[in-house]
Amino acid sequence: MTGKPKQLVQLDAAEQAHESRKPLFGLDLEALEARMVEAGEPAWRGRQLAEALYRQRIAGLDAITTLPKPLRQRLAVEGWEVGRPRIARVFQSVDGTERYLVECQGQDAQTVETVWMPEGDGGEAGDGSDLDAPEMPENPEMLGAPSIPRLSAERVGNQKSQQEFVQYDNASGEQGKRWERATICVSSQVGCAVNCRFCLTAKLGLQRNLTAGEIAGQVIAVFERHGVEVGRDRVNLVFMGMGEPLLNYDNFMGAVRLLVLEVGLSPRRMTVSTSGIVPGIERFAQEPAEVRPKLAISLNAPNDRIRGEIMPINRKWPIESVMDAVRKVQLRPRERVTFEYVLLGGVTDRPEHAVEVARLVRRTGLPIKVNLIAWNPGPGIEYTMPQPEAVEAFRGVLAGEGIPTYLRRPRGRDIFAACGQLKRTVEG
Ligand code: SAH
Ligand code: SF4
Repeated sequence: MTGKPKQLVQLDAAEQAHESRKPLFGLDLEALEARMVEAGEPAWRGRQLAEALYRQRIAGLDAITTLPKPLRQRLAVEGWEVGRPRIARVFQSVDGTERYLVECQGQDAQTVETVWMPEGDGGEAGDGSDLDAPEMPENPEMLGAPSIPRLSAERVGNQKSQQEFVQYDNASGEQGKRWERATICVSSQVGCAVNCRFCLTAKLGLQRNLTAGEIAGQVIAVFERHGVEVGRDRVNLVFMGMGEPLLNYDNFMGAVRLLVLEVGLSPRRMTVSTSGIVPGIERFAQEPAEVRPKLAISLNAPNDRIRGEIMPINRKWPIESVMDAVRKVQLRPRERVTFEYVLLGGVTDRPEHAVEVARLVRRTGLPIKVNLIAWNPGPGIEYTMPQPEAVEAFRGVLAGEGIPTYLRRPRGRDIFAACGQLKRTVEG
């Protein structure tokens, strides 16, 4: 018996300390102020804390020197920490894309994927987000202009490069700025419950929701890595990583509010993509314009029959019910709703599908654009990639119908770029 009780006590203490770790990152201004008042401090200390977490991007409590040292120590003893998600692994593509496994705050140390795309992937083209740049041409004849990314046959067909990737653990990415603008793709859940047949994230099932801090923290961690200067650099955010943001509504919008109100980003440079969660879209339509990102709908099929097959969620909320909900969003001047359309070889990529899509999106009566995405293959998914000619023909039909159409560049194919692909490939 000797020695044992002591060991137990120590383990208990360690356990307790572990369990009581509480992240400050993710709390909004009001919550931080309340925290400070609870600690016997004036409420304005909460503002200092918010500045430190979200503007100065300080990652350790001890480095927040605007707070008096005894206060920092007291907070630490009480179990508070900054607790910002951290980039655990980095994968760099030859095309400049970086994909991260970001480790979350929770005790499960779950990882999610976040992607950095210098110069974007074309998805943001023509969406009115480039407020300081001229509008993209809407004339379909202009769609082949060099400023609009085109899908090259070589990229689509190049399977081999998927085997090669470079991984840098915790490497610093700051080697002087070599980008003019960038897009960050952010995850909202670990896995996803929606079960779209073509999506690799679906295979994970829903493991858990991310907290607001874990969602906003992905952005801040990437900002830090690339030395992004808010208010100066042109960075777009797309909530198109793992998960269905509108099924984690409060945390997703909590993160958006932090990013807008505390970090200082414009919601016009953010786009949330949804598979068509009608109650979520209706709630989203009620958000004030000051904090509402732009909306993208994953249409992915020309009609309910095909959509129901590849996206079972369509049986619950068919296309027209989604369109009705989308019409409730009060669009800002020059804002458009994006329809994303994943081209699945032989399933959704025929010219007659394009004609149907054109009619469907025109019928909404809304300012819209279509983003075409060639399907990214993944293990265990039985679809095929569209032929480059089919992609080109599909785009041609939409353009001919006068629909503003953009092609998303397949980025980072060599680092397992498809949605959910990295986590599946690295962690099995
Ligand atoms: N759950 C949300 C956001 C994440 S998915 C949604 O579904 O909209 C983001 C986009 O990636 C969606 O438009 C989805 O249709 C697309 N996508 C998923 N898997 C893909 C794949 N393997 N190749 C290409 N696009 C894919
Ligand atoms: Fe979920 Fe979006 Fe993938 Fe569908 S496409 S399973 S909604 S992440």
